[in-house]
Amino acid sequence: MNIKKVHYNLENKLQLESRPQEKCGIFAVYNYHNPRNTANVTYLGLLALQHRGQESAGMAFSTPTGLQCVKGMGMVARVFTREILESIQAASMLGHIRYATTGSSSSANAQPLLARSFDKKGIALAHNGNLTNTRRLRNQQLREGQIFHTTSDTEIILSYLFRYRKEGLASAIKKTMSHISGAYAVVAINEQEMVAFRDPGGYRPLVMGKLGDAVIFSSETAALDTVGADFVREIEPGEIVSVSSGGIKSTYAGENMAGRSLCIFEYVYFARPDSIIDGHNVHSVRKAVGSLLADRIPVKPDIVIPSPDSGVSAAMGLAEALKLPLEWAIHRNSYLGRTFITPNQKDREQAVRLKFNPIGSLVEGKKIAIVDDSLVRGTTARVLTSLLKNAGAAEVHLCIASPPYKNPCYYGIDIPVAEDLAFSDSDYSKLAKEIGADSLTFAEPDDLYQVLGKKQSDYCSSCFSNSR
Ligand code: SF4
Repeated sequence: MNIKKVHYNLENKLQLESRPQEKCGIFAVYNYHNPRNTANVTYLGLLALQHRGQESAGMAFSTPTGLQCVKGMGMVARVFTREILESIQAASMLGHIRYATTGSSSSANAQPLLARSFDKKGIALAHNGNLTNTRRLRNQQLREGQIFHTTSDTEIILSYLFRYRKEGLASAIKKTMSHISGAYAVVAINEQEMVAFRDPGGYRPLVMGKLGDAVIFSSETAALDTVGADFVREIEPGEIVSVSSGGIKSTYAGENMAGRSLCIFEYVYFARPDSIIDGHNVHSVRKAVGSLLADRIPVKPDIVIPSPDSGVSAAMGLAEALKLPLEWAIHRNSYLGRTFITPNQKDREQAVRLKFNPIGSLVEGKKIAIVDDSLVRGTTARVLTSLLKNAGAAEVHLCIASPPYKNPCYYGIDIPVAEDLAFSDSDYSKLAKEIGADSLTFAEPDDLYQVLGKKQSDYCSSCFSNSR
């Protein structure tokens, strides 16, 4: 067994132990003017998206001998050394970072996935999301003689694209989309073109930008900012956008579009606060939802503090609405490096204690509102509450700037199974008691829709309702 790999995996599990995990991030560059630097631009874009997946990273690109792929386990900076970046020359590059929700965390499942034929023609693919009909399609393809090299749902998309490739990439994608269901934001390349497409519900974000004459596709706008690219527009739900020497072309998968299903938790937790999704800055949404908690919290606290770092935007909103000071009263140790602790509940709590320490003089004798963006297992909330009380806080009121998770996600987010969710078997006051807090306040689903100025039917909210 590879000891290094075990350490790495534990490190990542522990860093974000009680958080829901995003599945992936995509960053792709088409026809950059300086092929010696395309890998570097892609590297920067992937670094900017690292929060969306830390298990593996990869880049696919065209060479005179066909498509090639460099990928490996670990974070972007670990996989792509300076030597590797300097050795890659290509005008177009498809980059991906992964967190596994379907298929194991293994190098075989690392993306982009690449398929090549005997004539060396190939297709490479990077996917963010989760198919919901994976088992049926996989069994069907196995019966038809398909051989799979991975356990990921992404290979099902690739095998359909490869099957239809002679019709051209955009047409192959249209046909592939008639088979697959669920959440998928994808960028695919062959030797001539790059095509971005999004499922008809638009669960996962995907945007297009411009860097000089080069076209960029990215999971989030923050990565466009990082490389100095201009935002052009979102890829629409159900849209297929292809870029080639003939220019940019757009088409749609079909007439019968499902309703929109953008994952509302992109705003709550997954996306970077400096990203813009569907016209809304993520930080501003979080802050506005936090301000609405002011009408729901049962007491007037003395100070508001964020759960580091996930509750910062919402805590700013709550403090501003209550006209109270926002205090950075919990120090977060960002320099833990690798920790070698087995992932059971007791050790998870020890890991959280290693990470956080309250500043006693700020909290002693005070009624505290501590704000976080979400509550999953309740591990972090439980430990932070106990740390604050041990440091002398008179009362701790836990405020969560999202509705409680009630169901697992089937669209590419790793939310624990129902029994592990803090809220699955409890009510607010019972749960507050279990956590050790004096009260527990959640945002309501309508708070999110109100802030976004849209209807519930414009979003997926399956994990906190039973609507879709
Ligand atoms: S179930 Fe929840 S986390 Fe999953 S896509 Fe829907 S809103 Fe997002």
